[in-house]
Amino acid sequence: LLTSVTEPMFATYFTGNAPQIKNVLASKALFTMVQCSPAVRVAIAEEFGMPLGSLTPGKLAAALRKLGFDRIYDTNFAADLTIMEEANELIERIAEGGVLPMFTSCCPAWVKYLEQDYPELTAHLSACKSPQQMAGALFKTYGAQVNGVDPAKVYSVSVTPCTCKKFESDRPEMKDSGYRDVDAVITTRELAQLIKDAGIDFNNLAEGDFDKPLGTYSGAGTIFAASGGVMEAALRTAYELLTRQSIPDLNLSFVRGGEGVRIATVKIGEVELKVAVVAGLKNVAPLLAASKAGWADFHFIEVMTCPNGCVSGGGQPKVLLPCDRTTAYERRTCSAYVHDENSEYRKSHDNPEMQKLYEYFLDDYNSQRLLYTQYTSRKLAEGYSRCS
Ligand code: SF4
Repeated sequence: LLTSVTEPMFATYFTGNAPQIKNVLASKALFTMVQCSPAVRVAIAEEFGMPLGSLTPGKLAAALRKLGFDRIYDTNFAADLTIMEEANELIERIAEGGVLPMFTSCCPAWVKYLEQDYPELTAHLSACKSPQQMAGALFKTYGAQVNGVDPAKVYSVSVTPCTCKKFESDRPEMKDSGYRDVDAVITTRELAQLIKDAGIDFNNLAEGDFDKPLGTYSGAGTIFAASGGVMEAALRTAYELLTRQSIPDLNLSFVRGGEGVRIATVKIGEVELKVAVVAGLKNVAPLLAASKAGWADFHFIEVMTCPNGCVSGGGQPKVLLPCDRTTAYERRTCSAYVHDENSEYRKSHDNPEMQKLYEYFLDDYNSQRLLYTQYTSRKLAEGYSRCS
């Protein structure tokens, strides 16, 4: 009985956006572009029996191509772009006396929590969209342009470690390309199931590549996978933009680590930048209280909801034993930093395809329209529920 029940259950495993993606890929009626979050490449191989934290960007790209996507792009590209915009936003806020501390805005669960429980602090959030949403908006504008396709025919898919990214892509304001910027979001586990269902032998795939231009990324983009990664990437770029000198050491280990709060003061030219990194939403409360009272003297605060950042997101391969879970998070994090160290470019502003994007496409109008957003009060008292 167990066998006869289990097999059909596997065959109908797909929920959420996965069936729709299968249909779109099979019909070939649309031009499909896919992006993968940084944390996917350090975990997906676990679904195929490889050791915890195996780093497999090449197999990931090859598997997506075999599934039939027309372009294999990358959220990491947009992570580099986020850093360019966010570093400039921070520099501007400091120079012009803007609202500080500035909080990162790339974790949608954190953004929603702030909108819901601390709407009076939304001005502290960076106005930059998350990398997923920046990429989606670019796919249907610049991406359509470089591929010579009608933006209405572009179907944009995101693979993420994060179940909350589905909610983010559904937000009504995320249509700045003139279309829904991200059509479908699936998790790392759901992608693994699609790959298995298609009969693709992931472990023996030859290494593939992400496509240019929107699949080229720096090591700074890839460390977004880990807690402290956004901060480290931003500091590498802010240092060089402000001082016009090379940063002496690219490995800013003082912002790296697991669950908790890390605080540092970084001297960048004449500025003493006070930063904090928060991993695990429960740890942010004291900083929010301090910001509300006006005595949080930080310039920049990274907040990630999951205990170790996106490597430990809810859509990642499940690791059942708590001790193995700790090992999995550590190894996935380590793989993200190894990927960074082995990257041709390690600073977002060195990404050559992103430099071209600024040169040929991102004027002030397109930047404001496609890369920035606004936030909404979702106070429960105003009729929002925890689920809206
Ligand atoms: Fe999603 Fe967790 Fe990453 Fe936040 S930290 S973006 S909730 S996976």
